[in-house]
Amino acid sequence: MLLERSISGPIHRPVGGLGLGNWPEVILGLVYPPVCAVCHQHRADRDQGYVCTTCQGSVRRITEPCCQRCGIPFSGKIIGSQTCTACRRDSWAWNEARAAAIAEGITLECIHRLKYQKEPWFGTFLSGLLMEAALPRLIGHPWQGVVPVPLHRVKQREREFNQAERLAAPLAHALGVPLETNRVRRREATSSQTSLSREDRISNMRTAFEPARSPQIHGSWIIVDDVLTTGATTDGVAAVLKNLGAERVVVWAVARAILEIDLRPTRQG
Ligand SMILES: [Zn+2]
Ligand SMILES: [Zn+2]
Repeated sequence: MLLERSISGPIHRPVGGLGLGNWPEVILGLVYPPVCAVCHQHRADRDQGYVCTTCQGSVRRITEPCCQRCGIPFSGKIIGSQTCTACRRDSWAWNEARAAAIAEGITLECIHRLKYQKEPWFGTFLSGLLMEAALPRLIGHPWQGVVPVPLHRVKQREREFNQAERLAAPLAHALGVPLETNRVRRREATSSQTSLSREDRISNMRTAFEPARSPQIHGSWIIVDDVLTTGATTDGVAAVLKNLGAERVVVWAVARAILEIDLRPTRQG
């Protein structure tokens, strides 16, 4: 297991930056076939982000029916309101939020390993999940820019990269829309918000971001984050974009944190 784990990642990292082309990867691939970095059981190549098809198949993707505003999935048949209780109560700065999958199992594991263990190959798998869900809904609309949720500069220096930016870049590229990393900035490193009430968390995040540049903007914008929890963080970014002149802001996240209780429909037929 230790050997499999040790060969599943770093050995197969892209090495093009060393000017060695694909040679070492090809040779090592003959000796050690690329193995899934999650289950260490099945083959998985670089294009799959080293996540095998079996593990990819275990991801719980979010499908309709869901809240038309925040995208939280409903189970069962919905009649009447297609908006969840929270969205009827809160007023969000974003117009619509969606996530590709439920934040659990391998989806969450890969997000954590990308963020905290800096295993960059999971960015390929996670951005693939995001694009599989987002592109059909986003393509063909005149978007002005894709804005990854910014980290505070101190946190970004510690982590060395912004995971939201890693996930947003392939989406922006596929849509042919600029990736805008200098439009909104994080005012300060936000301390843990878990002890705050939902209302306090929302108002706290409304002051956590500020415009990084003053020029006015217009039209429709996309915000990308790794995990959507209450929606408060992306709401803070959306508020800045709306204040700068954006008319419509949609949020896309790879995963959505949900309590099982949330999966119950508000009204079931
Ligand atoms: Zn696997
Ligand atoms: Zn909702």
